[in-house]
Amino acid sequence: MTNDIHKDVLPQLAKLAIDPHRPLIISDADEVLFNFMIGLEGLLASQELYFDWSSFALTGNIRRIADKQPISQEEVGGLLSEFFEHRCIDLPAVDGAAAGLKALSKHAQIIVLSNIPPKYAHHRVTGLKDKGMDYPLIANIGSKGEVVRHLTQGMSAPAFFIDDIPHNHSSVNIHAAHVHRLHYIADERLSALLGPAEHSHTRLYNWPEIEAHIIQHIETGAG
Ligand SMILES: [Mg+2]
Repeated sequence: MTNDIHKDVLPQLAKLAIDPHRPLIISDADEVLFNFMIGLEGLLASQELYFDWSSFALTGNIRRIADKQPISQEEVGGLLSEFFEHRCIDLPAVDGAAAGLKALSKHAQIIVLSNIPPKYAHHRVTGLKDKGMDYPLIANIGSKGEVVRHLTQGMSAPAFFIDDIPHNHSSVNIHAAHVHRLHYIADERLSALLGPAEHSHTRLYNWPEIEAHIIQHIETGAG
């Protein structure tokens, strides 16, 4: 069933060749592979804005330096477009992410599933290559569960999903419950604002932990 996968995402999925007998790791990008918040703070500072670190959300926490008032949801959307167009290409990689994925690639297939607007996907591809993480990218629109189900259907090997946002874990739990879900938030300031995602299997705190956890699951046959 693919009705709930966006029409701009389906052709990207069709290009992938997934081996059903080899473990599959589906990794988010922002706050998993890239330091999104560090990049966002740079953009905010350039526009007389700041993030107030009071909760795990963008809307409501991005405020004007001048009057400390939050900007609107619409303005946050505009900022994110600007971010993906001009800033995501140069985002720093999360400590240990490239080495972790490289080690895991000896055991598993790797796909990056990022909700970057498809028109900016080429910037993300460049960023991944520049940081030693040249793995296939799906530029997704909307929730991730249906896409993860599509990617993992018919697989006999275990599949893993890594993401910072709790509702993405909930979506995967609904549509692809067989996938092992790892909750990870790279930015320690952001991580401190949120407990484990309700629908994740485990919360992990750095890439060496992620690598060890996945390898252990693959070697013990648990999925
Ligand atoms: Mg993310």
